[in-house]
Amino acid sequence: MQFDNSYARLPAHMFARQDPTPVAAPGLIGLNAGLAQDMGLDPDELSLPDWIAVFAGNRVPPGAEPLAQAYAGHQFGNWVPQLGDGRAVLLGEHVGPDGRRWDIQLKGAGRTPFSRMGDGRAWVGPVIREYIVSEAMHALGVPTTRALAAVSTGEPVYREGAMPGAVLTRVASSHLRVGTFQYFAARQDTDALRRLTDMALGRHYPGTTGALGLLEQVTTAQARLVAQWMALGFIHGVMNTDNAHVGGLTIDYGPCAFMDAYHPGRVFSSIDQMGRYAYGNQPQIAVWNVAQLASSLLPLIDPDEAAAVEAATPLVHGFADIYQAEWLTRFRAKLGLVRALDGDQALIESLLDRMARLGVDFTRAFRCLAEGTAAAEFPEPEAFTTWQADWHARLAAEGRSLTDAQATMRRVNPAIIPRNHQIEAAITAAVAGDLVPFHALNAALAAPFDAAPDDPLRAAPAPAEIIRRTFCGT
Ligand code: AMP
Ligand code: MG
Repeated sequence: MQFDNSYARLPAHMFARQDPTPVAAPGLIGLNAGLAQDMGLDPDELSLPDWIAVFAGNRVPPGAEPLAQAYAGHQFGNWVPQLGDGRAVLLGEHVGPDGRRWDIQLKGAGRTPFSRMGDGRAWVGPVIREYIVSEAMHALGVPTTRALAAVSTGEPVYREGAMPGAVLTRVASSHLRVGTFQYFAARQDTDALRRLTDMALGRHYPGTTGALGLLEQVTTAQARLVAQWMALGFIHGVMNTDNAHVGGLTIDYGPCAFMDAYHPGRVFSSIDQMGRYAYGNQPQIAVWNVAQLASSLLPLIDPDEAAAVEAATPLVHGFADIYQAEWLTRFRAKLGLVRALDGDQALIESLLDRMARLGVDFTRAFRCLAEGTAAAEFPEPEAFTTWQADWHARLAAEGRSLTDAQATMRRVNPAIIPRNHQIEAAITAAVAGDLVPFHALNAALAAPFDAAPDDPLRAAPAPAEIIRRTFCGT
């Protein structure tokens, strides 16, 4: 790895230097060969014991300057002035041969000054879950942090019982969160805010300048990101401001899920008792998070707070139009529509309303629409066929044949997504020492638009198999 650690060069109070804590017996669970190559790294070399030792935290590679980042955040709407990397260590920033910069972070690498009551560790379940889901999101074209490697530690981690420990090597274009800005805004540290702003602009929005410029870009990036989630039926589950990425990446996969039966109120997380982060609430939460970023940036926008608020407010309010346009574009594409016509939103909502009323599987419904078999997904087929007549008329209005439309629809409506019961099966097998299901699932999810109609991974879970709740790694 070619390290150039710009975060480690920030003023010392913006992070804590922290080496990963070594573990008893590192073992490789998975190495992402394709990603390694994109980063200019040799996957064969990364699979050798010396590099497995790095991914486990037992060896700090030359050039790394390990640290834990400070951040704060609103958790379920409540302000928490200090969170920070409590179970993650940033080894450093690898700069690939193409000049791209990759944060290399070990998640589950032991305690840090930000661990509070936590053990700084992760067990194999959340590590495998984040590996599978983040890589699936990437294959689906959604901006996300990535998974370079997962290793077992040979040590137990104590949750409900003793579980096998693991470490995820997470890589990303940065780990700058809304909560990173909030941490320094709350401490009235304008110098740190300025440095973070420059870093965020340099990494994610080169060519843009200033705090207002950053706010505008983050608003757009978050609006687009959430529209993509919505179009895939993805529920993040913990949209706290510390999990809102200023580069518009999906980050911190905890109790996330791809919805099975469509319903806008759908929640999977057992810790989200009020349904704050339900599927249908995600756009409002994203704009709320952007508003928290705006508040943090006010001192950089104008020394006169009223003037700063006046300048920032229209940018935050711009979220709604950007989101709405992106949502329409994505759902039009899901229906094979190219042109924008009046009534498109009503057509889309009419389908979604029928799906919600009948509990139709989100992913299967759209994929089967692309394959001409959607009627069978609806317990009341006439609820579909009456809508289908309107859809066919709409396609005719732009002179598109059903065959042409369905060909493009098969490139935006995935055949397979990581379903909870499949992830759970991969975890259960891994705990028992069998990594075959984990690797098989990853391989299939790398080409999510290709699975044949009879591929068993396409099956929606039988009701008894549905895991209605997922739990956070802690
Ligand atoms: P998350 O739910 O992953 O977004 O984490 C929220 C906060 O809790 C972050 O500051 C984490 O670093 C911290 N945290 C989560 N799990 C642990 C753990 N096992 N040990 C220490 N800190 C943790
Ligand atoms: Mg987090």
